[in-house]
Amino acid sequence: MNDCIFCKIVAGQLPSKQVFENDELLVFHDIHPAAPVHLLIIPKVHIASLVECKAQHEGLLGRMLLLAPRLAREHGLNDGFRTSINTGRGGGQEVFHLHIHVFGGGKMPHLI
Ligand code: C5P
Repeated sequence: MNDCIFCKIVAGQLPSKQVFENDELLVFHDIHPAAPVHLLIIPKVHIASLVECKAQHEGLLGRMLLLAPRLAREHGLNDGFRTSINTGRGGGQEVFHLHIHVFGGGKMPHLI
């Protein structure tokens, strides 16, 4: 997607503080952290949101989610962490490229 910020990060056209990469996923620090540790797990392929996910994305979604505890451990979140997926404008999504937020390490965004 030409005008997608996260696709530009994947392509190396925009900078990010990356902490993990493999052939299908990228993880980087959120540019405006809402907690002492705030990471974003994204697929390299452009998927606008959870709504656009199909059965073919089942494995990808599982692998994204399973990365969270590993990242949490690697970032010292031994006491626990929070994950969130904002979906659509009504769900607070601002960047329309699927991502899982991983927060922890202190004060965190308000829970509903
Ligand atoms: O879930 P939502 O779409 O609201 O979150 C997008 C997140 O992407 C925000 O937390 C924002 O700070 C982050 N972001 C980023 N790097 C950018 C643009 C946005 O980390 N270049």
